[in-house]
Amino acid sequence: MHCPFCGSQDTRVTDSRLVAEGDQVRRRRQCASCGERFTTYETAELIMPRVIKADDSREDFNEAKLRAGMLRALEKRPVSAESIEAAVERIRQRLRARGEREVDAREIGGEVMHALKRLDQVAYIRFASVYRRFQDLDEFRAEIDRLAQEPGFSSQEDEQ
Ligand SMILES: [Zn+2]
Repeated sequence: MHCPFCGSQDTRVTDSRLVAEGDQVRRRRQCASCGERFTTYETAELIMPRVIKADDSREDFNEAKLRAGMLRALEKRPVSAESIEAAVERIRQRLRARGEREVDAREIGGEVMHALKRLDQVAYIRFASVYRRFQDLDEFRAEIDRLAQEPGFSSQEDEQ
């Protein structure tokens, strides 16, 4: 890092600490040539990948659209707004963590399925039925049977 005062390349870090709840690193630096001190801040680049649609066109990631799709599946379900927001944020983080510039829309659908599965089984099945476009009733039933085998996946809906 060049010294902003004299342009020397010879600067050293004298102190380094996490700030902004750990989202930022603040560094105190000192120039070995002129002795001036300065501060730099480092943050992760938080860029959402662009979305590759089914027709191969690209569009910006649209959080509102993601949320709307989840809310549709969660309509009239007992899931708090807070839990939904946390799930949206988790999906954003997972997409960013891929470090890719582009992500397939289908993979975003997969992330939504993953999130809904944890939130609410009915919403999950609603979303999965649209997303996976089950060919027929047998395929849909097979998926529900498969789910019923998974630990932690209760069948409380059936017992009402
Ligand atoms: Zn300097």
